[in-house]
Amino acid sequence: MPHESSEAGMQLHWHRRDLRADDNRALAAAAEDGPVCPVFVFDDAVLDHASPPRVAFMLDALLSLRTWYWERGGDLLLARGDPREVLPAIADALDAERVVWNKDYSGLARERDAAVRRALDDADVERASYHDAIIHEPGSITTNEGDHYSVYTYFWKKWRDRAKDDPFPAPDADALASPEPDDLPDVTLPSLPTLDDLGFEEPEASIPEAGPEPARDRLADFCEGDIYRYEERRDYPADECTSRLSADLKWGTIGVREVYDATDDAKAFADGEAEIESVEEFQSQLAWREFYAHVLNFNPEVVSENFKDYEHEIEWRSDPEALQAWKDGETGYPIVDAGMRQLREEGYVHNRVRMLVAAFLTKDLLVDWREGYDWFREKLVDHDTANDNGGWQWAASTGTDAQPYFRIFNPMTQGERYDPDAEYVKRYVPELRDADPEQIHDWPELADAERERIAPDYPAPIVDHAERRELAIETFEAARGDD
Ligand SMILES: Cc1cc2nc3c(=O)[nH]c(=O)nc-3n(C[C@H](O)[C@H](O)[C@H](O)COP(=O)(O)OP(=O)(O)OC[C@H]3O[C@@H](n4cnc5c(N)ncnc54)[C@H](O)[C@@H]3O)c2cc1C
Repeated sequence: MPHESSEAGMQLHWHRRDLRADDNRALAAAAEDGPVCPVFVFDDAVLDHASPPRVAFMLDALLSLRTWYWERGGDLLLARGDPREVLPAIADALDAERVVWNKDYSGLARERDAAVRRALDDADVERASYHDAIIHEPGSITTNEGDHYSVYTYFWKKWRDRAKDDPFPAPDADALASPEPDDLPDVTLPSLPTLDDLGFEEPEASIPEAGPEPARDRLADFCEGDIYRYEERRDYPADECTSRLSADLKWGTIGVREVYDATDDAKAFADGEAEIESVEEFQSQLAWREFYAHVLNFNPEVVSENFKDYEHEIEWRSDPEALQAWKDGETGYPIVDAGMRQLREEGYVHNRVRMLVAAFLTKDLLVDWREGYDWFREKLVDHDTANDNGGWQWAASTGTDAQPYFRIFNPMTQGERYDPDAEYVKRYVPELRDADPEQIHDWPELADAERERIAPDYPAPIVDHAERRELAIETFEAARGDD
């Protein structure tokens, strides 16, 4: 039964990238203080930065969340507009006492939240925000001198050893408010908008099912098997032995404490030291995610600027043709092309391959990392400002802990090492399905006639890796001001 009468005033929970009811810190806090009415606001200023794959996943997750509330006698209110106007209007219409939400860490999100706080203060509505998206909030893990870490290894050690909260309980059905439709202000929407309503086309990629149930299935599958071989096999893209939880963590269809807890349970069942280490290797990826959230929180400018200072500007090349070939997966470097085609088809790329395609763009093509970041932002279902930026700046040698500028991945030997049977390449590059793995790994160095004979429809390499490697090193040395 919905909450009927209570001395406590109604609480509005503003869902953003926490599209779940379980393990949701702000929602749990709100439910302790009064009947909760959840709200989601379609904000055009935010949608301006969004793209079809992400919005498609988000809409699916919202449907699942709304169903969760319906099944318990509540409802997820939907509204479209500027949250500075929408939230005070809903609070006023429902006589809500307080609006709560979970924090986000990008500069843009923090500016938006500050503006919403001011609007609620002006409207005399209480408000509170909570840390939820990561386990250890920004500022809680610092060097002994109290500085923020810019080196992951030390961060990880403290992150690992710090006590962790348990998942937060979902609100009981009797903590949910279900307002009468007549009480709702005009800004609310009667039903979930479609992609088209929001001005987006259907995504090119097939989007995974979104919501807590599919997220929990992914987590359970992973913790029952692949987590124990994660350390050994996570770099081999054909194996697909990673969790595939990135979009769930980005959209909060599962809570990070719940994920961590499941991995700790898996650790208790590990058979031997190697399996324990494998679970810890996975947990250290969760810590990378938190490390980059801290970096973004304290350095909001990294979204558009290098984290690391070079003495001179890096002389990135303007090469629209090469950039397009990279986007299309037509560079003539098979593992790079397989990754870029996986991105278009699935809105996802395996981590090792993300590193390779990003290195290829920024080192072999010497194209500015911001071009690659923009493309990933457009195409990834799991695009997350902190992680995407962290990954790009790492590959471009401009970030925290960045890959040293002189250590340049060779896409041919990387393919040979991590995709020895070319299984991953063949999955995404059909033109090469009849080629032998050696021919695929050596493709850029084969004679034209041989390439023509083996796979006439697959392109020749657009650049020579050895030459470009030298050029990249020279370019970075010039930026460093080396003689
Ligand atoms: C250029 C580049 C761009 C990237 N862009 C994104 C992005 O937009 N969104 C995103 O979530 N990850 C990004 N990553 C990190 C990583 O590639 C993905 O998190 C991972 O491939 C997702 O697959 P998974 O969920 O199976 O990962 P798993 O290996 O199962 O890892 C579990 C979780 O840990 C986190 N994680 C794993 N690796 C990293 C990492 N290197 N940095 C930060 N968090 C990590 C993710 O939340 C991931 O879901 C990027 C990496 C690079 C090199």
